[in-house]
Amino acid sequence: CGIIGIIGKSPVGPLLLDGLKRLEYRGYDSAGVATLVGTGIDRRRAEGKLKNLAAVMEKKPIEGTTGIGHTRWATHGRPNETNAHPHMTPQVAVVHNGIIENFRDLRRALEGDGQSFETETDTEVIAHLLSQGLKAGLDPVAATAETLHRLEGAFSLAIIFSGQHDLMIGARRGSPLAVGYGDGEMFLGSDALALAPLTDRICYLEEGDWAILSGNGAEVRDAQGSVVERPVKRTAVSG
Ligand code: GLU
Repeated sequence: CGIIGIIGKSPVGPLLLDGLKRLEYRGYDSAGVATLVGTGIDRRRAEGKLKNLAAVMEKKPIEGTTGIGHTRWATHGRPNETNAHPHMTPQVAVVHNGIIENFRDLRRALEGDGQSFETETDTEVIAHLLSQGLKAGLDPVAATAETLHRLEGAFSLAIIFSGQHDLMIGARRGSPLAVGYGDGEMFLGSDALALAPLTDRICYLEEGDWAILSGNGAEVRDAQGSVVERPVKRTAVSG
């Protein structure tokens, strides 16, 4: 239901949690974060209120300066810790708002290829499609393009890739997503409010857009894959 993503300069765990608090007003049943640590991905999730996730993160702090966070309002799969986002494979972690309408067909095809599934969500197919592309030798951008091509429905996404600390990809189709510009730091958020303490320089992606972020900026592509210019505006929303 709410998405936050940060390519930062300092540990992002507390910042992700703070961003999720600003998205609480949308309603949710569980929450989670994932960060890049070394060559892998670390993750914390909890059912229920953000204070449960905060308690998990206090007990076992999460490292990493690049990460994504999510508040979930379940549409497919019970609201429990297993189904809480981020969903991941050893190669990628993804958070998702909205619904993947053709997830049953995609899941059946992936299972036919021998892929097993951990959750009941529609979202998990995205992680496996991305991984499949990467394992086939595609780079993260190409694997994302290929995956977006196969998804039907209304959604927004934030994706991180193992070992790629200076990369995050966001996508918007039928569910809003904003790119935030910092000083050597970059952000993704469901709305400007989530990013308010981090930056007031915001670019709202247009329908079908996806954005490839590094710490120094973003390249926005449209649904056809062409690089496009989208205005960066100063928001009045204050932290
Ligand atoms: N359809 C996804 C799920 O049920 C995402 C729901 C949301 O937007 O929070 O896990």
